[in-house]
Amino acid sequence: MTGTIFDIKRFTVHDGPGVRVTAFLKGCPLACKWCHNPEGVDPAVGVASKTVRVGSTTFTSNESVGYEITPDALMCEFRKEKIFMDESGGGVTFSGGEPLMQTAFLVETLALCKKEKIHTAVDTSGFAAWDDVEAVRNFTDLFLYDLKIMDDALHKNYTGVSNRLILENLVCLLKTGARVRIRIPMIPGVTFTGENMEQTLAFLTELPFPVEGVDLLPYHNTATHKYKRLRIANPFEEMKSLSKNDLSATKQRFEAAGLNIINN
Ligand code: SF4
Repeated sequence: MTGTIFDIKRFTVHDGPGVRVTAFLKGCPLACKWCHNPEGVDPAVGVASKTVRVGSTTFTSNESVGYEITPDALMCEFRKEKIFMDESGGGVTFSGGEPLMQTAFLVETLALCKKEKIHTAVDTSGFAAWDDVEAVRNFTDLFLYDLKIMDDALHKNYTGVSNRLILENLVCLLKTGARVRIRIPMIPGVTFTGENMEQTLAFLTELPFPVEGVDLLPYHNTATHKYKRLRIANPFEEMKSLSKNDLSATKQRFEAAGLNIINN
C-alpha cells in the first residue's frame, strides 16, 4: 500500500498541540478559490516549473509535485522528530489536500502511530463519506475541522461543493465524543464577513455537543508563487494578507459567546 503526499513539514506549531510533523496528502474534492495549497488539490503526482536566476540568465526546469510513500516509510520520517514531539506534547498531523481522500493509507499510518504512542491529528474539510470519517476517528486524537461559509449557495460558489455533508459530519463526529477544533480560514469578503461570522457563531453555539476550540486563520497571500509555478490562475492574486490584529474584534465576539479561541 502507498499513499501520495506532496510535503512533510517538520517543527510545525499551528497544526495541533506541541511541536509536530505535518504530512500533506494529495487530492481534494473541493476547489476553494483562496486555496493556499493548490499543489495538493490534484490527487495525481504533477509537475511544476522551477525558475532560477543567475545574473541576467534565467534557468527553468520542471519538478515533480508529490510522490508515493508507504506507511512504514512515512513512519520513518515521523520518528526522526520523536524526541521533540515527546518533550513538547506534540505529535503528527495529516493535512492536505484532503487526507480523507486516501482513507486506507491514512488509517494504516494512523494505526502505526497509535502503536508507537504518537499523538495524531487530522486536518479535514469534513467533505467525505461518513464511513471514512468514522474509520479514521478510531485512530485520531484530535480533529482540526474546517468551517468556511454557512450559506450553502455561497459555499458552492467559492468551494465548488455544498456544505451540507460537512455540517452533518461535524455533528455526527462530535456525537461520538471525538475531540474537535474548528478552523475558519478568514478570507476578506468571503468567509470573513459580518453575516458569515454571525451565522458561524450561531451554528457553533447551538451544536448539541461542544467543540474544543476555534482557530481563526488570517488569510495570507503566500501561495502566489505556487500558482505561478503550477501555471494556474490565482483568483485572489490581488488580495492582501490579514494580520492577527484584523481579527481581534471577531475573536472577542466569539469569546464573549463562550467559545475558546486557539492560536490567536
Ligand atoms: S479544502 Fe483546503 S486543500 Fe482543499 S481546495 Fe480548499 S483550501 Fe485547498
